[in-house]
Amino acid sequence: MKRVRSAAALVAAGALAAGALTAAGAPASAATKGPDDSRTGAPTVAAPGAAESTPETTEVTAAAAKKVDCAKVKCVALTFDDGPGKHTKRLLDDLRKAKVPATFFILGQNVGGNRALVKRMAAEGHELANHTWSHPQLTQLSDAAVRSQISRTNKAIKAASGVTPRLMRPPYGATNARVGRAVGMPQIMWSVDTLDWKYRDVARNVRVGVNTPRKGDIVLFHDIHSTTVAAIPKVVAGLKKRGFTLVTVSQLYAGKKLKPGGLYYKR
Ligand SMILES: [Zn+2]
Repeated sequence: MKRVRSAAALVAAGALAAGALTAAGAPASAATKGPDDSRTGAPTVAAPGAAESTPETTEVTAAAAKKVDCAKVKCVALTFDDGPGKHTKRLLDDLRKAKVPATFFILGQNVGGNRALVKRMAAEGHELANHTWSHPQLTQLSDAAVRSQISRTNKAIKAASGVTPRLMRPPYGATNARVGRAVGMPQIMWSVDTLDWKYRDVARNVRVGVNTPRKGDIVLFHDIHSTTVAAIPKVVAGLKKRGFTLVTVSQLYAGKKLKPGGLYYKR
């Protein structure tokens, strides 16, 4: 129970992240406008990237921090499981271009080799969530092993990004009352299964991703497949065209209380 952070704490963390980002952007723009050229000269590698990415990044974060009332607005949450992996950078680039946030259900064992990506997810307004350390069937583990899968992953994500996940997704959707109690976090399932892992077909991913979601749905994708990542720009464009606002899972449930161990499929 002590691991569960309150919604208020999470909102505060999000506000902090947004604030930190804005604060980080300020010196960059000051440096650009300022007369002191030595400042632009020194960080030659970091400055162009930062100058290029900061405005967009700030907008995505602002969009994520913005209160969207998904009781009224037609919201949908895109979720990406099992990463980060070698295609995740491309996905983050595309989401930034489209200015939409997503939720990443991260495997703890993948954080170590992708710390920069995990940090970037948080900085760009995405939600970082727990998908266990090594993707086991939690129903086959002891309570202690379940707790270890969860806490190790939360610690790794916190260490890389500064953000502690408040939501988790059990691998394969395999859970029960006992696992729910041991997990101690809201369990986020899904209401649209794209089966992207099975078909590995860009056109199919686009078709299913655009046409299937209804208001309040949680859409399951996997960012470890190139065919999934390649489909996302068209999925996002298509959903926007259908009038959807893309939100994180926490935004989707804003105003509703998610219980530790509770199961959530859609808003
Ligand atoms: Zn998974």
